[in-house]
Amino acid sequence: MRRFIAALLLTVVLIPSAGFAADDFLLGVAPEPSEITPAYRSEFHPDDHENCYWCTPMSLEDEAAVWGMLTAPITVVDIDMNKQTVLYSQPDESSEPVGMVTGQSQALHVLTQFDDGWSLVETYSTSFHDSKVKNFNGFVSGYIQTKKLKTVQVNRNYGIIIDKLTQRLYLFKDGHLETSLAVSTGKYNPAAKKQQPYNETRSGEFLVIYTKTGQLTDADSGMICRLALKFNAADYIHEVPCRINADGTRNYRGFEGVLGSRASHGCIRVQQRKNANGYNMDAVAKLIKNRTDKNCVKLVIWEDYQGRQVVIPDDDTPLYYNPNGGSMYHSVANCPAVRKKFLPLTAFTYGELDEAPYSKLTACPDCQPSPRRDVLEAINAEHLEASPGEVMSVWSGK
Ligand SMILES: [Zn+2]
Ligand SMILES: [Zn+2]
Repeated sequence: MRRFIAALLLTVVLIPSAGFAADDFLLGVAPEPSEITPAYRSEFHPDDHENCYWCTPMSLEDEAAVWGMLTAPITVVDIDMNKQTVLYSQPDESSEPVGMVTGQSQALHVLTQFDDGWSLVETYSTSFHDSKVKNFNGFVSGYIQTKKLKTVQVNRNYGIIIDKLTQRLYLFKDGHLETSLAVSTGKYNPAAKKQQPYNETRSGEFLVIYTKTGQLTDADSGMICRLALKFNAADYIHEVPCRINADGTRNYRGFEGVLGSRASHGCIRVQQRKNANGYNMDAVAKLIKNRTDKNCVKLVIWEDYQGRQVVIPDDDTPLYYNPNGGSMYHSVANCPAVRKKFLPLTAFTYGELDEAPYSKLTACPDCQPSPRRDVLEAINAEHLEASPGEVMSVWSGK
């Protein structure tokens, strides 16, 4: 009987937190609604593009609009998935090439198709270190022959957003935002002696094109990236890297701790620990592999343009911890990473997080609660001043 009352009390306590705010909070970090679109830098603003990635604001606020965008067909270049072609400054192959585009998986924003066989398009240039045109993630307008283009239907059950601003993956399933995982996108080392602009993850609209999961291994460093799915020639979405211990077990140390910030060489690293909804990279890879709608899943990458901001949670947003010696704070009372005897965890609020006894708690790497206020405020301050993902668009090679 006592257990029944406890369960009833718990239900009553949980009801107020089961609304919009709690769901929001499970996103860990969410972008503040804004009107900034992926084609924000464009001089063209077509008003008749429905469900267009390039014309849809980079915001999770309107779930139906985001779902429409994630399931709309895309236009790609019909060449090998590992090959690239150029966009020209003029409808003429002797004009200056302005950007690179990858075959089969990278989408183009088609603005005008002219009678002379050329199309005016836009995209973020996919340049790698050895690409012909060294325009690293620059947003470009250019020309391509219309006969090279094809329109492709996409999967209608899943869609993935990678937001460079929040360093989160947002998984949409059957029309709804299903869950969120921490990621690391590319880091181009702006302050380093040897800048690597080709490390910045190229933004844009893509298909997860090659879905037989493999493993990327760097023999020099012993770094292993499991569950790799190709979406843009040499760019993959994969599990956060690991090294193999002497006893054969996997060691994610050094890579896992920087999830939620830029760290990779261009690939998208995704958390391997299961979050509060039971998702991790393994689960994402499985659902992509086992999809019944065989069309490729769309993956879009949102650029962290100046002016975009992250949501800072309300002070009364619930957080949880184990008062008997726990060192972490959690986003849910029943975090799967905590031993059962300590569950359910004890609630406190986001507003109390910087006060004793909570100020020393670290964020749980499994349920990935919102970072502390000062971390989020630093992201917002940086993006008031700059667009960190806009690398020097045409690199001198120095
Ligand atoms: Zn558009
Ligand atoms: Zn947790």
